[in-house]
Amino acid sequence: MPFPFGRRELLQGAAALLADALLPRRAFPAAPGTETRVIVVTFGGGVRWEDTFAPEGWPNIPHLVTDLVPQGLFFPETRYDGLTGHFNATGALVTGCLQNVDAYGSEAPTTPTVFECFRKERGLPPEAAWVVASNKSFGLLGGSKLRDWGDPCAANVILPKHFLVQAIRSAVATPAGPGVEDRDALAERMVSALDEGYEGFGWRVHETGRALGQEVRATLAKSLLDYFNDPLVPTSGDELTFFMTKEIMSRLAPPLLLVNFWDIDVAHFGAYSLYLEAIRRTDRLVHGLWQHAQSLPPYRDRTTLIVVPEMGRDGDPSGNGFQNHRSGDESCRRLWLLAVGAGVPRGLVSPRPIRTLDVAPTVARVLGFKMPEGEGRALSELAF
Ligand SMILES: [Zn+2]
Repeated sequence: MPFPFGRRELLQGAAALLADALLPRRAFPAAPGTETRVIVVTFGGGVRWEDTFAPEGWPNIPHLVTDLVPQGLFFPETRYDGLTGHFNATGALVTGCLQNVDAYGSEAPTTPTVFECFRKERGLPPEAAWVVASNKSFGLLGGSKLRDWGDPCAANVILPKHFLVQAIRSAVATPAGPGVEDRDALAERMVSALDEGYEGFGWRVHETGRALGQEVRATLAKSLLDYFNDPLVPTSGDELTFFMTKEIMSRLAPPLLLVNFWDIDVAHFGAYSLYLEAIRRTDRLVHGLWQHAQSLPPYRDRTTLIVVPEMGRDGDPSGNGFQNHRSGDESCRRLWLLAVGAGVPRGLVSPRPIRTLDVAPTVARVLGFKMPEGEGRALSELAF
């Protein structure tokens, strides 16, 4: 028996629900003193030096090596000394303090995030700060657990896979016309298809209760349909994160944005080729985000981009070292950081040792707000 409605209608329903829950009622207004914008992009999951910026790794990151590094400031001696789990590593990045909370994301960071400090000092609306994360355990990354901070001034967090799966479940569960059994069967197939991938599609909003304006809603829904109707529709979670980030930038132009790509963590499955493929995809998507920023007036020539792995991966010389990030060895610690754009010297390599803890105070310096004294130090090479 044919399905009672097509893929397009199903996705229209999903997109409408998505748009309802997703974004605020009004676009983020330009606020005084927020002219500079910052985008922090992580090679989430963690990459090793030898698979990226060591000469043998260059073929995996052609856009960084040939397009972005020549435009920016590169720190080859970047280090992370904290717990080598995803939430704590990225938590350190957004707070400037080492974190020791639940590795699977059930606890918020224990010190204020850049998002809270920025919004609180400036009195900015939630639409001013966003986290778009492929890692579905990052729901609490937008704000700390501290009283007086946390949710009231946290970032919006979007976890694409979760949210879209929920949207599709809701869409197909809505009673409408005949053929309910077929709708249920279709729903099951779609949800299982989405869940089968290591990181499939989906998204969720941390803070709820807000909705888009009609025009933005229609545009976002159309964009999502275009995305799925493209015969070349990509199948990775990071591609959807990329798509969603571009939509948020185009529609709301937030001055502070953290993008977590995470396909690289497919390495845990043990296939080196998939790990390298994910690194190449991340390289391409980072470059694509930078190009997108340059195409948008609110971002062009006034945006600082920071690209950094959240951590490294094991250096086991037996050949399986890429697979995990458990040993805490030097290969898990040795990272790199690239800054490009507004206020950043072009084509320089700084041998100065830095830490990923320095990212949060650097973001604060670039955007001109205060962070409580932490462990990191702002990168003085940036002219702000
Ligand atoms: Zn992992």
